[in-house]
Amino acid sequence: MTNTNHINSALHISKGVKRPNSINPEAAEKYKREKKILTVQDYIKNIKNGDRIILSKAITLIESSLPEQQQLAQKVIKKCLSCSGNSFRIAVTGVPGVGKSTFIEALGKFLTNKGEKVAVLAIDPTSKKSKGSILGDKTRMERLAADPNAFIRPSPSGGISGGVAGKTRESIVLCEAAGFNIILIETVGVGQSETAAHSMTDLFLLLLLPGAGDELQGLKRGIMEMADIAVINKADGNNIKKAELAKRDCENALQFYPLPESGWKTKVNTCSSISACGIGEIWNEINDYCNFTKTNNFFAQKRSLQSKYWFYETINKALEDRFYQHQQITSRLKQLETEILKGKLHPFIAAQNLLDRYFHNK
Ligand code: GDP
Repeated sequence: MTNTNHINSALHISKGVKRPNSINPEAAEKYKREKKILTVQDYIKNIKNGDRIILSKAITLIESSLPEQQQLAQKVIKKCLSCSGNSFRIAVTGVPGVGKSTFIEALGKFLTNKGEKVAVLAIDPTSKKSKGSILGDKTRMERLAADPNAFIRPSPSGGISGGVAGKTRESIVLCEAAGFNIILIETVGVGQSETAAHSMTDLFLLLLLPGAGDELQGLKRGIMEMADIAVINKADGNNIKKAELAKRDCENALQFYPLPESGWKTKVNTCSSISACGIGEIWNEINDYCNFTKTNNFFAQKRSLQSKYWFYETINKALEDRFYQHQQITSRLKQLETEILKGKLHPFIAAQNLLDRYFHNK
């Protein structure tokens, strides 16, 4: 068989072209970096250099329930503490649909354009049930997420047994060490998360809808009292008039509230997060609040009280975890619970029984 025959045959093997490299070398480098097992020193060095990927990985350690990852996380946090505390921390709250993500994106972009470094964290006590839909949805805050001066951390997608707020509090330390000087804490779920957000931020910003009274806004009593700045969002299109009315209603209602400890009278603004109209004015007010509370020393006092709160909270959480993870306890817990539900055992006696078991067996 000649060579030509071979080429003309249907059975010949085509020489083909050189297969392109299926792995982008840059992505491969990034992948290697992501897969590398990092030491405490690696974490600290990269966090302090503002590396957002490593920051994200360190927050994953904080959120992990594996003891060895927790230990590593604690070492990283400890080393970052000396570089933390220098940011301004703002809680952004309001009922679902009020526009928290849209507002945070508008404010975040406004700030990064001014050269600030903005981190967005979330407190989501319901993350277990909702599978962390909040901020986890990639279409949210797309523009801000793409900004090199911003860091957005989706809330944990479940699996955290409790103390979610504590994890957010620890994540703040790392974000500050990474150089983020404005931290926005988005709350999700109504009630519990506002109180947690209040315990770790310097300013509480409450978003409201135009044309809806307190009852309609689903606000729990006490939330309005926590607000340092209230913002009627969606003040655009047909809503402009309604937003102005809501602003006046809100201001009237606030007149009857006692002056808060900060001495700062709650301010009410309107804005459109979609067009970013009013964002600049809100930022000016945030700065006024910051200067006011720094001058009258409330800022420092509040931070000290928050530290005290987190001191006890951390002890309580650790004791609780140890107790419920103790083998002697887990093996008895369900059984006692069943007896209590059947009315066969008094809850106090059952609890004392378990506590005795725990403390006397140590
Ligand atoms: P969240 O659940 O509080 O985070 O609310 P989102 O930010 O997801 O917003 C809920 C809906 O309100 C979305 O459809 C937004 O586009 C819309 N929205 C948010 N802010 C504004 C605003 O300022 N004006 C208008 N017209 N719509 C807005």
